[in-house]
Amino acid sequence: MKKRKLGKKIYITGKGRCNFTNACDIEDFFKNVVSNPKFLYSSLYTFGPESMIDFIEMNGTPTKVERGNRAFPVSDHASDITKALEKALKDYSVKVMLRTEVSDILISDNKVTSVVLADGTKMYCDNVIIATGGLSYRTTGSTGDGLKWAKKLGLNVTETRPALVPLNTKESYIPTMQGLALKNVNLSIYNEKKKLYDSFGEMLFTHFGVSGPLVLSASSIIGSTLQKKGSLKAYIDLKPALSRDDLENRILRDFNDNLNKHLSSVLRGLLPSSMVPVFIEIMDFDDSRQINSVTKEERALLLDLLKAFPFTITGLRDYNEAIVTQGGVSVKDIDPSTLKCKNIDNLSFVGEVLDLDAFTGGFNLQIAWSTGYLAGLSI
Ligand SMILES: Cc1cc2nc3c(=O)[nH]c(=O)nc-3n(C[C@H](O)[C@H](O)[C@H](O)COP(=O)(O)OP(=O)(O)OC[C@H]3O[C@@H](n4cnc5c(N)ncnc54)[C@H](O)[C@@H]3O)c2cc1C
Repeated sequence: MKKRKLGKKIYITGKGRCNFTNACDIEDFFKNVVSNPKFLYSSLYTFGPESMIDFIEMNGTPTKVERGNRAFPVSDHASDITKALEKALKDYSVKVMLRTEVSDILISDNKVTSVVLADGTKMYCDNVIIATGGLSYRTTGSTGDGLKWAKKLGLNVTETRPALVPLNTKESYIPTMQGLALKNVNLSIYNEKKKLYDSFGEMLFTHFGVSGPLVLSASSIIGSTLQKKGSLKAYIDLKPALSRDDLENRILRDFNDNLNKHLSSVLRGLLPSSMVPVFIEIMDFDDSRQINSVTKEERALLLDLLKAFPFTITGLRDYNEAIVTQGGVSVKDIDPSTLKCKNIDNLSFVGEVLDLDAFTGGFNLQIAWSTGYLAGLSI
């Protein structure tokens, strides 16, 4: 354990409340795992969300389940999850070595013989479980050391990238709307004609691009194509509840009621105020004109913008803004029923260091708990 305190990452999870699991059925759990859900079958059936909730409760922290089956401590303090885990460590007399960085793993005859600490100390061991996490939020100690050791030991490591991460965008009009949160919109993302992502929910404009729940989920789905292609087109349906015809009728009505007004004043009834100048700019509309001069083509363009507001995604933000790391130690090299390396019998990998990642909602921590539990049990 590198840091001087336990639970540095747990402390920042779930906006400080730690959404420690998702109390859904296990079959629904798999649907929320983005990479390699099948690998998790044994882990989740051995120690799933229900077991984790019981474990936290048994160790003195009451829990509650909120919207979307997200489980939290009743206190809303992530530190109470760490407290429960610390109690269990104490009850089982686990020796915790704080401020102790592992610098290397030594093997001989396909067996780990010892781990080397940063101060040069060698610790001999019968078994090693690597739970060093991914590359996200490195100040918590997750700096990808396990990935480095895996490569050195001859395991395959799939390409890593930030996931559940905000996205950079190209157009200069996006940052002018920074701080604007859109609720009940539909976001779709395309690789040329192919739709990669299409979902309904909330998103946010920022000084660099876009963020918010819809965007974070999208990043996990589009990340690899985005890195290959360099940029992808995205569209926001700002009025998903209205068909194009219904929306056109609504606009015609609004226009008829305001024939001598300016377009911007009518748009304010349809859009958040910081989007109004952006619409006027994209439409290349002279706002000193009155509504009665709006042409049919201009009205069609307005409809297009409302149903498919366009922007270009140019990249993923950095690991330091990413909730998880996508990619990692290839699950092909790991036995899913024990978490042991197929080639090195006394070495196991668990949690985010593996090529496993899921959507938000408590799934990523549960992956760490479930794989950790099964690895321990198997030893
Ligand atoms: C801001 C944020 C919010 C999140 N919120 C949630 C949430 O609410 N719910 C959810 O399910 N998931 C959430 N996640 C994701 C979740 O925290 C991770 O998926 C999970 O912590 C991974 O667990 P892990 O044990 O595999 O790795 P980590 O939690 O990353 O732990 C790795 C540990 O290994 C230690 N370590 C690394 N290298 C060495 C070394 N060389 N020597 C010694 N020790 C080392 C690190 O110090 C660290 O303690 C969030 C992540 C972030 C960044």
